[in-house]
Amino acid sequence: MSTRIGHITYYIDLRSAYVQFVGCNFTCPWCIRKLTPWDHHLSSGELVRLRFKGLLSLNDFLEIIDDAIAQYGMEEVVLGGEEPTIDPSLPMIIRELSNRKLRIRLLTNAYEISNELLNELRLCRDCEVVIGIKTLNPNKHIKYTGKPLEPVLRNIGRLLESGVRVIFETVLIPGLNDINDIEEIAKYLAGTVKGPTLIIDPLIPIPGTPWRRPTQEELSEAISRAGNYVRVMTHERIGKPSRVVVLYPRP
Ligand code: SF4
Repeated sequence: MSTRIGHITYYIDLRSAYVQFVGCNFTCPWCIRKLTPWDHHLSSGELVRLRFKGLLSLNDFLEIIDDAIAQYGMEEVVLGGEEPTIDPSLPMIIRELSNRKLRIRLLTNAYEISNELLNELRLCRDCEVVIGIKTLNPNKHIKYTGKPLEPVLRNIGRLLESGVRVIFETVLIPGLNDINDIEEIAKYLAGTVKGPTLIIDPLIPIPGTPWRRPTQEELSEAISRAGNYVRVMTHERIGKPSRVVVLYPRP
């Protein structure tokens, strides 16, 4: 069975692998993947050496996972990159990782959650889904992602009803997903989810797009205003430094 996994890094000090899927059903112009297809936490020396070696089969992927458990005592796997849910083998991947008693974090835009995937997430004891909300404005959503907002909101409801642990993430983009918009997202979550958590990321600008990085003051204000409704986290606060190695593709 083939997967859509094209890159895996391992964070030694966090005991966590970052598994990157290739391909996405959205077309966000600010997508960080436009800067590099590789994990951007790698050193520039490492980045220039990397060459795409194809998508992994499920067996080869599991072999890499088993090696990392044996060699490093790996405890966690983050499934992200582009969009993991477009991979038909994702439910099987989650089952196999869960059988190995690993913590799993699935990063997704939640546009396509199949019944099979929902069922696997429901059965998974140590799974957390991180849903990226691009904007709650339906017109902006379709304009920038190429897809309607409604299925995302519907899938948030399905995941919550199934008892899956869900947290949320959004990007502060001045002029597109502004401080006011983020406050609206926080209000929406407070009215929809019990004890919601929202990660707020500052935009990393992509050359050729019109959006700038928010200032520290703007980020602080977004955090403070959203904090009236939800528990707020930022990657700057939660991201601990760690040594990173490449598990795939190996040079
Ligand atoms: S959903 Fe994520 S991976 Fe897909 S285009 Fe948007 S930012 Fe990129």
